[in-house]
Amino acid sequence: MESLIRKNIQDLVAYKVDAPQYEIIVNANESPYDFPMILKRQFTDDICNTDLNRYPEACFPELLNELSAYTGVPTDGIICGSGSDELIAMINQAFVNAGDVVVSHSPSFDMYNIWAKISDSKHIRILDLPGHIPDVDGIIKAACDNHAKLLYICNPNNPTGYTFAKKDIIKILDAVPSLVVLDEAYIEFFGESDVDLLPNYPRLLILRTLSKAFGLAGIRCGYALGNKNIIDVLYKVKAPYNLNVLTQKMAVIALQNRDKVFKNLEEIKAEREKAMAVLKELPSLTVYPSGANFIYFETPFAEKIYEVLLNRSILIKRFKETGSCPESIRFSIGKPKENQKILEIIKEVVYNEA
Ligand SMILES: *Cc1c(COP(=O)(O)O)cnc(C)c1O
Repeated sequence: MESLIRKNIQDLVAYKVDAPQYEIIVNANESPYDFPMILKRQFTDDICNTDLNRYPEACFPELLNELSAYTGVPTDGIICGSGSDELIAMINQAFVNAGDVVVSHSPSFDMYNIWAKISDSKHIRILDLPGHIPDVDGIIKAACDNHAKLLYICNPNNPTGYTFAKKDIIKILDAVPSLVVLDEAYIEFFGESDVDLLPNYPRLLILRTLSKAFGLAGIRCGYALGNKNIIDVLYKVKAPYNLNVLTQKMAVIALQNRDKVFKNLEEIKAEREKAMAVLKELPSLTVYPSGANFIYFETPFAEKIYEVLLNRSILIKRFKETGSCPESIRFSIGKPKENQKILEIIKEVVYNEA
């Protein structure tokens, strides 16, 4: 049986994790606020009037209209996936051959690497410069020298929170021969999308999701924006009914009511800045600026902080030391009381250890 498995799949570890059961869960950059009850009720009414025995719309026309109104991109330049994870899979299926080169800055989102492995491509990761500033010239050189098929830019970046200047994104787009995938999963927290570049860059694809600012990680809805030609290619590899009818209905309601859904964004950003100020005062922590709904910092006490928080039923994300990055922590901004509790515990640990 072992010999039947593709070589590149043999060493992969399956993503099989239980939903975390903790009092405070801030490890996955989700919204701390559940979707508004009044909109959930609207959804259940809607579902009561929907024939669930029928297949859903294969190409989600109503959702495309709402996404077009939200993003300003024409409907023929949009495609949806079961989370942006599925879109990353589709991009790999459509464009990446075994042995092709994929480039990204590093550290960044794990899924780029997982899909590079599944597609049996070569993933070149260009380490950030000091201060976790992505090495734009290094990225360009790697993409050009290796004729990279795909280049990922994550803006704001997960996990460091770094936000790219538009001029750097343009510099990359102008220089590389690759398909450039700009992951804007956290763009609503930053506010400066590069969607306006699409008409001038036929090799640009922008990834978005309802999992973060919309507070709908549970429904699995992501979308890609691009020029019609490139989006048409993705439709060729799309599974026939990849978005179930429940997801389509809920996503439409979320987009139509986005002012209600977004009313927490300002609070989350203000809480982020408050938390950042507290952490910056602590010894032995290097805290990085963030344009997203999480904070990233490096500290030799990362493991201790992780353990103490876990003992108090708080789950954060901890990154072990790698050759290039020291021990670090990322936690998403929760409700104000939760943030307060997290910060108090971090302070306690740091002053005990330092
Ligand atoms: C959370 C996240 C996504 C969203 O993934 P979904 O599959 O849409 O939930 C995409 N990219 C990055 C960088 C993320 O952190």
